[in-house]
Amino acid sequence: MPTTTFASLPPDIVDRILTLLPNFRALSAALRASKSLIYNVFLNHPLSITHAIAYNLIGPALPQALRIIQIKHWLDEDGYHGFSNAAPEDEIIQACPLTRLIGEKLEEYADVASGLEDLFSLRFKNRLSKTSLLTPQEALRFHRALYRTWACTVINAEVTDEDVTDDEEEDEDQDDDDDDPVDPLTRCRVKIIYALLNDLSTTEIREVYDLVLFLNLVARWVMCEQQVQHVAVTEPNIIWYAFSQGIPSDLTSFNAGIWDGPRNIDSALSQIWTERKVRSDRYLDTRSKAILEEVEGENAACERCGFVGGLELWGPTNLILWLRNTNVQELSSGIFLPGLLSNNRDITDWIKNSLIFGRDDNGNSTFDFEELMNGLVDIGNEREGAGRWSRDRWYCNDCVGELFRRFFWRWILLHKTKRGETIHDDCWYGYNCRTMTHRLEHARKLNHLCIPTRGEGAGV
Ligand SMILES: [Zn+2]
Ligand SMILES: [Zn+2]
Repeated sequence: MPTTTFASLPPDIVDRILTLLPNFRALSAALRASKSLIYNVFLNHPLSITHAIAYNLIGPALPQALRIIQIKHWLDEDGYHGFSNAAPEDEIIQACPLTRLIGEKLEEYADVASGLEDLFSLRFKNRLSKTSLLTPQEALRFHRALYRTWACTVINAEVTDEDVTDDEEEDEDQDDDDDDPVDPLTRCRVKIIYALLNDLSTTEIREVYDLVLFLNLVARWVMCEQQVQHVAVTEPNIIWYAFSQGIPSDLTSFNAGIWDGPRNIDSALSQIWTERKVRSDRYLDTRSKAILEEVEGENAACERCGFVGGLELWGPTNLILWLRNTNVQELSSGIFLPGLLSNNRDITDWIKNSLIFGRDDNGNSTFDFEELMNGLVDIGNEREGAGRWSRDRWYCNDCVGELFRRFFWRWILLHKTKRGETIHDDCWYGYNCRTMTHRLEHARKLNHLCIPTRGEGAGV
């Protein structure tokens, strides 16, 4: 039987195989592999092959993804006036020839969209899986809304003072007495975002609204975890990188601005809702309902106390989201520490400097949340009986808080000992000592990570 090699395949089969490639990296590899046959087939049908691969990569939201690239292109070429050249979404695939550069952009978009989709699914669809369990229809809505929101954020980031027309300047003069004056640049950005969104059906606009709420939440998680007040997250990819990789300490620009994209998108949305006579307050409680048809585990109960926490139960897949929901600074507060320990600066400084904001020589965080959680569960089982706490179970906010309140201070003591830090003699008043709260010297001289043996709370 003659062996069939790739090079002996008929060109139309090779063409078919190329259209099935998952991404542009695979296409480059294939083109490099066979300069003659594959390259020639590709040269005969470059458009159909690249469009097919783009579709495999991005899925049915390809027009919305391409539109971001086209909007960036207009803004680069002609400023905001180029906007009138916009191709409608349904014509964009023809209007946008796929260059290598566009291929690379689409690959980046696909990675970011898939990471955000996994996160959205974990938080709002099904907390049991770190990989998205969205149905194909839900995934399409999510991606479509993500790319549309992304296009709005590009406008927000890239329309500059130079794009502001005289009209907007004049408008501002007239609005001088307004209670809430809007500067011409903001007015200009809102106008373009409005034009983009107003093409959509009301249902699709609700999807965008849900997506903005979701991005707000992710941005808040980033700010809580990194302890920054502001994050210059101009586009969804930056939010995703900051969430998944942390804000690089050498990139101070991350701290330079704020995630203010939604404000202008919100302004455009309220205008549209008013015009369409849809009451905007009807949308305020609709988070994730426009995108998701069905949610799994809405009635799930805490395995310790029975509280019906639904998707706000924390366990093996998502405990890190509990931490991100909690402002990490709170780990040194009275919410998670017994007695007066949260007023003992020696301890709170240790929690901040040695634990949550600890950095290695390269500036990378050394805070190992997994290690902390495993340690708390071990201490809990040691003190309350084997199997009382488990990393495999699901707990509500209160019960995770309880785990911290009861055992975090013991874990700190254990951790300090393991690190070889000097542990001083116990203060009689333990974690209820008042002196430690106003005399740092006393706080440092004695160990307060202990149960009081005198005074308030002694013998408990
Ligand atoms: Zn509970
Ligand atoms: Zn004391």
